[in-house]
Amino acid sequence: MLHFLFSRNIWMLPRSLRGWFLPVTLLLAAQDTYAPSREQMVRQQIEARGVRHAEVLRVMRATPRHLFMPEAMWPMAYDDTPLAIGHGQTISQPFIVAAMTELLGPAGGHKVLEIGTGSGYQAAVLSPLAAQVFTIEIVPELARAATERLARLGYKNVVVRLGNGYKGWPEQAPFDRIILTAAPPELPQALLDQLKRGGRLVAPVGGSPLDQELVVVEKDAEGRLRRRSVFGVRFVPMVTAPPKPR
Ligand code: SAH
Repeated sequence: MLHFLFSRNIWMLPRSLRGWFLPVTLLLAAQDTYAPSREQMVRQQIEARGVRHAEVLRVMRATPRHLFMPEAMWPMAYDDTPLAIGHGQTISQPFIVAAMTELLGPAGGHKVLEIGTGSGYQAAVLSPLAAQVFTIEIVPELARAATERLARLGYKNVVVRLGNGYKGWPEQAPFDRIILTAAPPELPQALLDQLKRGGRLVAPVGGSPLDQELVVVEKDAEGRLRRRSVFGVRFVPMVTAPPKPR
């Protein structure tokens, strides 16, 4: 693609577009410079720790994580750590995003609900793996920024709503898959109700940041729930109102 852009085809563009051409091309090239970091992230942080699902690895390789944070943070975007994204919130560590996506197991026809849009990165990772992704964020500034960012990056099957995730998204229920990226003290009943039979929910659960576990809940064909814990995690708490600006 860059070859095409740098070739003489530029003269085929209308004159009014030529002025944009070089800056846009350079921007694309600059963004691509993170591909090696992303490859290293996938090998050393994700594959090495046991994530095996080929589609999940492919999407982690393809999703430009740095574009979900301010430019000043780009050099850290592929580090093995969660990162602060403002409003006291964080974008999860790459391994956690990959592991939760693998546990969730979204598939082509699935309708997925995410609670805690944050930067929109987890929703972007889910986007190519599902039919539709509905995601709810309680902080207005984050919801607005994520909506704009996901649209700009071309994620057409992701819908962001500003609201309280404890209530879920009744108009779109039931969901094949539900993922929480903020930790409630207990699993919210509304979300369990909005899970389809045969569906699966993945969530960090725990009353204190130092005592949370990642939980997988499956709803069988009769509507019975089966729950298992996977490992300890540390997520921001799921709140009932946006935090006051400091
Ligand atoms: N998935 C995000 C990271 C989320 S951090 C990403 O990929 O970047 C957790 C997010 O959950 C925060 O943005 C926080 O504001 C949001 N949140 C907390 N409580 C919530 C609630 N009740 N409903 C919706 N969002 C909530």
